[in-house]
Amino acid sequence: MMNMMEYTSTRSSKAVTSAQAILQGIAEDGGLFVPSSIPALTGQELESLLEMDYVGRACLVLSKYLTDFSKEQIEACVKGAYLNRFDGNQPAPLREAGGMELLELWHGPTCAFKDLALQLLPYLMTTSAQIAGDQDEIVILVATSGDTGKAALEGFKNVKGTKILVFYPQNGVSPMQKRQMTTQEGDNVGVCAIDGNFDDAQTGVKAIFGSREVAAQLRERGMAFSSANSINWGRLVPQIVYYVSAYCDMAKAGKIKMGDPINVVVPTGNFGNILAGYFAMRMGIPVNRFLCASNRNRVLTDFINTGVYDRNREFYTTASPSMDILISSNLERLLYLLSGEDTGRLNHWMEELKTAGRYEVDAETFEKLTAKFSGEACDDGEGAAALRQLFEKTGYLCDTHTAVAVGAYQKYLVKTGDDTPAVIVSTASPYKFAASVLEALGQTPAADDFAKIEQLAAVSGTAVPAPIAALKGKSVRFTKVCDKASMVEAVYSLLRM
Ligand SMILES: *Cc1c(COP(=O)(O)O)cnc(C)c1O
Repeated sequence: MMNMMEYTSTRSSKAVTSAQAILQGIAEDGGLFVPSSIPALTGQELESLLEMDYVGRACLVLSKYLTDFSKEQIEACVKGAYLNRFDGNQPAPLREAGGMELLELWHGPTCAFKDLALQLLPYLMTTSAQIAGDQDEIVILVATSGDTGKAALEGFKNVKGTKILVFYPQNGVSPMQKRQMTTQEGDNVGVCAIDGNFDDAQTGVKAIFGSREVAAQLRERGMAFSSANSINWGRLVPQIVYYVSAYCDMAKAGKIKMGDPINVVVPTGNFGNILAGYFAMRMGIPVNRFLCASNRNRVLTDFINTGVYDRNREFYTTASPSMDILISSNLERLLYLLSGEDTGRLNHWMEELKTAGRYEVDAETFEKLTAKFSGEACDDGEGAAALRQLFEKTGYLCDTHTAVAVGAYQKYLVKTGDDTPAVIVSTASPYKFAASVLEALGQTPAADDFAKIEQLAAVSGTAVPAPIAALKGKSVRFTKVCDKASMVEAVYSLLRM
């Protein structure tokens, strides 16, 4: 009989089940839920994973964490999320180019890696509500830098017992991302632009989650908030699967032997994706090093190089908008694990972050961090050069976020000569960021958004993903813009309260 996995906050020790952690999203003390131990994959399990498809691999990995779900429940969730929703029924294929393995996570309905988690989360959440005997209508509140919002809208649209509201920074998302969100279909969805940047949207959403007053207003109406941001454990756990799966695919293809280490390069914003990779490693996937790639908003690069996290700096809008972030929420989970689960120290650092915008970790935690993580940053020019070079040398076209990872990896290679086989996590379709991709290729983008799409297809000889092509015929439903100080009113209005 397997032990029940418990979840505690990074800031206190009160334990909940996985269903409760997923429903609640964020802990009452403002901390993030983490499993009380990290389950291991045995050698035998790893061998058996080689022969499984993505659905089978996801079921096995999830069953280690969601111990209060039945086997049948997990299987139903996983099949609902991954069967017939991804191009070619392959949610996470590997493509080799330029001596790298690109893990393409953008073959889902919104063409970004967020689909891997957000196709599954609605199933995990409604199943969690069943397990917990919770009757409330679930209100999902999302702050997005572009990709999460659309992926969450697609995942939750028309899901019974849920409503979803998305806030995005008015001038901080690409035209295609904006169009994806403002044309969203479904009778339980709402979308609102914020007059501010992503951090403003995220801070506003966190404040609404933390407000007893708003919670009481909702409760009176039989509703309760939950989060689809990567602070929710239910967002993170599906992401562990594709690291395990990529390793198995490499071993199966004979690119590595079982047990050989790999390097993992992740274009990073909120630190959710790369953290899931770290969990995969702790479960038993051999990873030599994680390279955390940042754009010009290089707060994480500086942190990994100095031990000082300092958000007191200029915020830049870049060609990789989903990484334009100065507060990387999921770093809190890594620091919790590295500091020996020391909630006292976590409270102290997070309080300093809140009040002074800065904290410095102790020498021991810093040593553990740098033992596994490297950080490199690429500005827009360097990212564009990496994108163009890869395309000209190999014919492989990547998006601007993945280009940051490719460029960062090249810098890392020059510095270290580390020739461990590397997986570069490819996080979005280039067609989501057509203008920047065209510019990187030395083209002058056409004026019209859809003309850009056709232009990119012609220049690159690649196919336009069906969900992007389909946007052309859709009309805009959501045009509201709100002040960052009036987000609560916007929530009430979208919920018609
Ligand atoms: C969200 C996103 C990222 C950043 O991922 P995190 O988990 O927030 O670090 C990178 N690239 C793309 C395309 C994204 O949508």
